[in-house]
Amino acid sequence: MSETRPFDATELQREAAAAAPALLDAVRARLTDSGAEALLVTAPANVRYLSGFSSPEDGAVLVTLDDAWLITDDRYTVQAGEESWLSNQVITREIFERAAGLLEGQTLAVEADHMTIAWRADLERHLNRPVVTTQDLLRPLRMVKRPFEVAWLREAARITDVAFGQVVDATLRPGVRELDVALELERAMRAEGADGVSFEIIVASGPRSAMPHGVASHRPIEAGDLVTIDCGARVGGYHADMTRAIGVGAVQEPLRSWFDAVLAAQRAGVAAIAPGADGTVVDAAARDLLTAVGLGDAFGHSLGHGTGLDIHEGPRLSPRSKDTLAPGMVVTVEPGVYVAGTGGLRIEDLVLVTDTGGEVLSHTPKDYREVG
Ligand code: ZN
Ligand code: ZN
Repeated sequence: MSETRPFDATELQREAAAAAPALLDAVRARLTDSGAEALLVTAPANVRYLSGFSSPEDGAVLVTLDDAWLITDDRYTVQAGEESWLSNQVITREIFERAAGLLEGQTLAVEADHMTIAWRADLERHLNRPVVTTQDLLRPLRMVKRPFEVAWLREAARITDVAFGQVVDATLRPGVRELDVALELERAMRAEGADGVSFEIIVASGPRSAMPHGVASHRPIEAGDLVTIDCGARVGGYHADMTRAIGVGAVQEPLRSWFDAVLAAQRAGVAAIAPGADGTVVDAAARDLLTAVGLGDAFGHSLGHGTGLDIHEGPRLSPRSKDTLAPGMVVTVEPGVYVAGTGGLRIEDLVLVTDTGGEVLSHTPKDYREVG
């Protein structure tokens, strides 16, 4: 599970294709449990998960108990043929009409989390019968990464580390705008092999660091700022996610103490990662330390989330989580402290749940440091 090997995209794609029949059978088992006989998959990450097609926003996958089709339009005829391991490919501009036409009276389930009300009406008009709605049907499958998925995430984390190391030392100093740091990070990630960024890069300096999702702005970084940088490379469709907080010159109180509190909480959260651990328990391992030093209310969000073909997916690490960790899950551990008017910080690693504990996939140093 946690062995490292040279990264080979072609080999990973081959492994994904070889694993596809077993995956489709697992989907069918869950489908049968939900009382349906066919599933129209439209959520992009799920379309990619089941087909390998890398433009899943413009496609759908239809799964029946003994067949599966990728349905997309004529902009993608060649791409679908090259990428998808589903040999049944339907090229059409009328996805719902064709999907309905492929069925022979089966009860069709749709993904309630993605299908719009208008699409559902259109689909039901073509079907001439109601659809069944399902929620999170693929979530339990997606949560546990197969070895080739772990390899993609490992590569995404590696690219993130390389880019971060290059850019922070070369770019982060007083007078540089947050946007310039974000721009250099994205450039470095793509140069290192990323398809793109996992999400719009967060660079939050000075008072803006009180915003948990402070997307990089025109603000020039000032001496004494503690700068929170949250970024990740996306490769093969898989999303890395990492946050570091770095001093530009000497950081003053109370931020300097908050840094130590967040780092201690982050380490406690990572240490709590293990197969069988509940998401609530891992969350509490970090949160309790912040609460003990009076910063509980300043930590408003969840401790962490799964990543994969979506940047945010199961399992959740939060006070309300219903998930239990299992080997093969990849989660973030990202406590933070945010106080409006003063500032804040977050520290985040990507962690693989192994058979015995957790393996941190982010290798960028996270101890307190100053640059510039
Ligand atoms: Zn993040
Ligand atoms: Zn995150």
